[in-house]
Amino acid sequence: MTDLTTLAREMTGWRRDLHAHPEFGFEEKRTSAFVAAKLREFGLEIAEGVGGTGVVGTLRRGSGNRAIALRADMDALRIPEQSVAEYRSQNPGVMHACGHDGHTTMLLGAAKLLAEDGGFDGTVRFIFQPAEEWGKGALAMLDDGLMERFPFEEIYGLHNMPGLPVGHFETRAGAMMSAEDNFEIVLKGVGGHAARPHAGNEVLVAACALITNLQTIVSRRLSPADIGVVSVTELVTDGTRNALPGLARILGDARSFRPEVSAGIERQMRVIAEGTALTYNVSAEVNYTREFVPLVNDAALVEEAFAAARTVFESDHIATAREPMTGSEDFARFLEHVPGCFVFLGNGRDSAPLHNPTYDFNDAGLIHGARFHAAIVKRRLPTK
Ligand SMILES: [Zn+2]
Ligand SMILES: [Zn+2]
Repeated sequence: MTDLTTLAREMTGWRRDLHAHPEFGFEEKRTSAFVAAKLREFGLEIAEGVGGTGVVGTLRRGSGNRAIALRADMDALRIPEQSVAEYRSQNPGVMHACGHDGHTTMLLGAAKLLAEDGGFDGTVRFIFQPAEEWGKGALAMLDDGLMERFPFEEIYGLHNMPGLPVGHFETRAGAMMSAEDNFEIVLKGVGGHAARPHAGNEVLVAACALITNLQTIVSRRLSPADIGVVSVTELVTDGTRNALPGLARILGDARSFRPEVSAGIERQMRVIAEGTALTYNVSAEVNYTREFVPLVNDAALVEEAFAAARTVFESDHIATAREPMTGSEDFARFLEHVPGCFVFLGNGRDSAPLHNPTYDFNDAGLIHGARFHAAIVKRRLPTK
């Protein structure tokens, strides 16, 4: 049996290997082969290629017929890493800037602990999903028959949290992370000579007015009791130095925690786009898509997660996350099928922010994640 110090050292090696070889969403070939090889070594049943590059490991003990799932994400980001670490990215332009190398390693560590230790009665599914950052990997696995082929009744997942000290644990009941919607508004008019605006219907002034008008969705249309964000992130036109544009694209991102709020943002955006376009005698087309659904934790299973956490973390290092985060997480897709709980583990007070080119997962936290995963299994699938 591996003691925890040895396991922590092994996990650090795995994590740095994964960190040096980051792969973008749905391209996690080396990563999933690494995961499958480890799970095989620990004696798990393995299915590869689930939803593209996803891997599912299954571990059974005893005679219990309950099954629970633990999930990690494997993908990296198209961000050029700024690091002098020996294990820095060997894949130019791609890096593990969100710590998914750490999450994958923690779940592998849990598989090793549980395979050696047992201490539970039933079935554990270890889900390694691709393409979390796109918000596409969980759906790909679900569309590939995840629930039918590898059934489970509840699911748990985690994310590292910069700013929260290592060894600290947070979660909360109900809404914890937001939905993400994307929008594109295309304005069409008639461009022309910069000296003769009256001869056409250029779109840039209309686009600027529209961007300003969109600010009223949250400030004037949303109930103060609800949370919503509408951010315009890009304005692209076909204009040039002395030619007015006839085409403008306004792109952006909206966040919310309830489907009704998301629907309300879309509705009001269409009203404002049409009204503004009419005012400036141009046309507007709104494309509104839903990329991530809100992440809503099951209240009873949050209590179970807190109870499991108390066997791993010091009691004054366990807290209820103060407020929902307006970041999004693909784990939410699994929670549309079964109840579950997503938690945050500290990545250190001095950690660079997620998606920053200098970010690095904190190896000191690896063992906490592995132990938390194992603890929730032992709690939810107790031996008689
Ligand atoms: Zn991320
Ligand atoms: Zn992430």
